[in-house]
Amino acid sequence: MRTLVVEDDLISRNFMRKLLMPYGRCDIAVNGMEAIELFSHAMKSDQRYDLVCLDIMMPEMDGQAALEKIRNMEEERGIQGLEMVKIIMTTVLDDVKNFMHAFKSGCEAYLIKPIDKQKLLKELESLGLMK
Ligand SMILES: [Mg+2]
Repeated sequence: MRTLVVEDDLISRNFMRKLLMPYGRCDIAVNGMEAIELFSHAMKSDQRYDLVCLDIMMPEMDGQAALEKIRNMEEERGIQGLEMVKIIMTTVLDDVKNFMHAFKSGCEAYLIKPIDKQKLLKELESLGLMK
């Protein structure tokens, strides 16, 4: 599994990375802009990510905007269905508006921080990422 963790907070970033590293390569972006750059590069070089964990509150470009951009990039390249990257929002924002917005934009799951390890692993399993 190839993962991109997008998170501006150092502690959360390290936590997520440590949690995901046993399952494969884990890249890091500290804001939405970086995430888009890495995602785009990976897509073009045919080394696509299987999973993006995306914080919402970040400088430069927030997670909601990054989510939309990622789905747009996939659409432009004709990537659809099971070929699309799985996106899990990881955020402190526990409100219906953000939740609905993220699902409307095409995320697969929405986890509230602090991230519970078992919950995350369960999500990965149900998304078929733990094979
Ligand atoms: Mg943040």
